[in-house]
Amino acid sequence: MRVTQILHRPVSLKSAIRNAVVDFSEMTASIVAIVSDVERNGRPLVGFGFNSNGRYGQDGIIRDRLLPRIFRAAPEQLLDDSGDNFDPFNWWDIMMRNEKPGGHGERSVAVGTMDMALWDLVAKIEDKPLYRTLADRFNRGQFKNRIYTYAAGGYYYPGKDLGALQDEMRRYLDRGYESVKMKIGGASLSEDMARIEAVLKVVGDGSHLAVDANGRFDLKTALEYNRAMEPLGLKWFEEAGDPLDFQLQAELSRGSRLPMATGENLFSMTDTRNLIRHAGLNPQRDFIQVDPVLSYGLVEYLRILDMLRAHGWSPGRCIPHGGHQLTLHIAAAFGLYGNESYPGAFQPFGGFADGVPIQEGYVTIPDCPGIGIEAKSNLLPLFAELVDGPKAEVARR
Ligand code: MG
Repeated sequence: MRVTQILHRPVSLKSAIRNAVVDFSEMTASIVAIVSDVERNGRPLVGFGFNSNGRYGQDGIIRDRLLPRIFRAAPEQLLDDSGDNFDPFNWWDIMMRNEKPGGHGERSVAVGTMDMALWDLVAKIEDKPLYRTLADRFNRGQFKNRIYTYAAGGYYYPGKDLGALQDEMRRYLDRGYESVKMKIGGASLSEDMARIEAVLKVVGDGSHLAVDANGRFDLKTALEYNRAMEPLGLKWFEEAGDPLDFQLQAELSRGSRLPMATGENLFSMTDTRNLIRHAGLNPQRDFIQVDPVLSYGLVEYLRILDMLRAHGWSPGRCIPHGGHQLTLHIAAAFGLYGNESYPGAFQPFGGFADGVPIQEGYVTIPDCPGIGIEAKSNLLPLFAELVDGPKAEVARR
């Protein structure tokens, strides 16, 4: 069993939306295809991966550091002990050779993108949907294929008034979502409170609305927003301050009645452990949103889940950032709280398989081998073109 080639290229995710800190006018993502010599129905099995939205494509690190290490390794080093499948843990060690600890930068995104494509391939070789592969390997075969999700939107957009914001949220409810998330911190407190009140009129009550400041606030502003929002009983207050300012988070968490959520900009087990140690979060109330694809992949996410358990946190407090099918499989296999969804943004990567309805705020995963990119008709052509078209960078053994 061998990898014959690995293809990758950047794709544009450009859009006019904006949160409190960044606009998405320059956004890109990397897509990766790992081609094996394992054949099924006369075609080689290929694993597909892409990086989650919000961080840029990582083709430079993939091309210059990760792929040369993989192709320098002996083919049997890429396999598990049985020799019947590839071993994501061995790949992880090989990709991280000669990388110093800490200072993760965005190499964690490059490794996470490769890791996603590899797990897709591993599950396809087993001929199982990924959540079954993961449940069988790591959770004694147990899974829940009915996963809570919420519609993440409510971005700032040129000319978007309160009516347009309400219309957006109504569309999510019409599609079967029961809870939504909106951006705050990109306007004044009074304007944002008017936006929040407008959305509450659509979704009913605060338990169906989370708000996300994208790390914008200093402590004083975070406390002002918290004081204003507390009586509304919102689902959570996300990334109030800088993602690495654990003291700010601790001071905000201490007196607040609102659940807190953070972690999408922490890229390793050690960063997440610092959050758990120092940010004053409550394992019965708060949410951890680390995104496996941005943070060294599922191999590192397994270390994060172990660390969380050791600190008294259940996987049931995790709800990953990302809004795509990989995190959905992870949520199903490890009993996470749920999974984000971007029904209106970051296409074609956002969202789930075709024809799977959102029902009362829950989604299921079809029984398609791997992650299910083949079951998402607006995403598959991008990967088909990567493998068969002229634009990819190709590394071969
Ligand atoms: Mg967020």
